[in-house]
Amino acid sequence: MKILSVNAGSSSLKFQMYEMPEEKVLISGTFERIGIGGGMYTIKINGEKIKKEQELADHSVAVKILIDELFANNVIESLDEIKGVGHRIVHGGEKYAKSVVIDDDVIKTVTELSDLAPLHNPANLIGVKTFMESIPNAIQVGCFDTAFHQTMEKCEFLYPVPYEWYTEYGVRKYGFHGMSHNYIAKRAGEILGNPNAKIISCHIGNGGSLCAIADGKSIDTSMGFTPNAGLMMGSRSGDIDSTLIPFIMNKTGKSLDEVINDLNKKSGYLGVSGISSDSRDIEDAAAEGNERAILAQNMYYEKIVNYIAEYYLELGGADAIVFTAGVGENSKLTRKAICDKLAPLGVKLDEEANNVRGEEKLISAPDSTVKVYVIPTDEEVMIARDTYSFI
Ligand code: AMP
Repeated sequence: MKILSVNAGSSSLKFQMYEMPEEKVLISGTFERIGIGGGMYTIKINGEKIKKEQELADHSVAVKILIDELFANNVIESLDEIKGVGHRIVHGGEKYAKSVVIDDDVIKTVTELSDLAPLHNPANLIGVKTFMESIPNAIQVGCFDTAFHQTMEKCEFLYPVPYEWYTEYGVRKYGFHGMSHNYIAKRAGEILGNPNAKIISCHIGNGGSLCAIADGKSIDTSMGFTPNAGLMMGSRSGDIDSTLIPFIMNKTGKSLDEVINDLNKKSGYLGVSGISSDSRDIEDAAAEGNERAILAQNMYYEKIVNYIAEYYLELGGADAIVFTAGVGENSKLTRKAICDKLAPLGVKLDEEANNVRGEEKLISAPDSTVKVYVIPTDEEVMIARDTYSFI
C-alpha cells in the first residue's frame, strides 16, 4: 500500500512516498520557490537525483507535477493506489495529542490555531487542501509537531505569568519537533531493548530542541509557546529576557515586528558570530581562530549542556543521550564539546566511534555512565506510520 508523507511550507513542498507496511521509500522530492518565481524541484528515485527548473505558480501546480512524476517514473499506475496522505502540521494546540484523520472540523481547528503559528499552519493547510482536491480518494491525516509534547505536566508547561493568560489565551509551552523526538524515543527504546528508558533527545539542526523522555513520553522540552525558545539556534536567539524587546525598540526605533524578526533570523550562531547560521561555517572560522565564532560555539554548547543537566535531574538519571538532526548527526566537534562538558555526570565519549556522520551509532565509551548515540531522525516515516495506522 502506498502512502505519501508531505511537509508543505509557504513556498516549498517536500514529499516521500512509502510502500507500507515495509516502510520502503519509493520516491522522494522537494519543490522550492512556489509562488515566488524561479521555481525548481528535485526528485530522488532509485538512488538517482533529478533536478528540474520549472515555474511553480502555486501549490496545486507543484502537486500536479508531483503526480505526473509518480506516473512517469512508474511508481503508480493509478491514483487509487495512494491510500493515504500524511501531512506535517506544526501546531495542534491542546486539541491534538495524536495524529488525526482530517475532516472539516480539523481544518477549522487548525485554521483557528494559525494564531499560534502564523507562518506555518496556513502553509500546512494549503498542502492539505491541495492534496484533498488532487487525490480525493486517499485518506488525509494531520500529524502535529506539538502532539508528542501533550504529555507534559502543568508544572512543566506553564509559564509563571498570570494564570488567565493560559486559560484565556492558551499561553503555555507547547514544544515542537514532536515527530522527531517521538521517532528518537521509539528507536532509542528499541536499541536499548527498553521502551520505558529515560532518554534525552537532542534534536539540533538549524532549529533545535531537547526533549526529556520517559516511558516513551515527553516529560519536558526546550521549545515553548513558539519555536524561538530554549536553545540558541542557527539564527534564532532561544530564551532571552523579554524586556530586551521594548528596550531595543526604544534604542533603535525598530518596530515590534522588526525586533521579533531579528530574534528569529539574525540571532543565534549568526548574530553572535556575525558570520553564518550554519555550524559548518562557524567550525571553519573557529578553527582559524575567529574569536566571535569561538564565543558563539561556547555559548551554543553551554545552552545544550545546561538543558541536558536539567533533564538528567528531571528524569532522575538517563539511560541514553541521543544526538540527531543536521548538527547532531554530522558534527563530531559539537558532540565532543558537549560530551566533554558532561564529564561530571560520568558521560564519556569514545572518540573513535564519534568519528561518524549521519549513521546510527553508539558513540560513548564502555565505562560511560550514560550511553550516547547518534540516531538519524526520520520524521517522514513517523508521518507514514501514523497515516497507515488509520487505514
Ligand atoms: P537541519 O535543520 O536538521 O536540516 O540541519 C541543518 C544544519 O545542520 C545546517 O545549517 C548545519 O548547521 C548543520 N550541518 C549539516 N552538516 C554538517 C556538518 N557536516 N558539520 C556540521 N554541521 C552540519
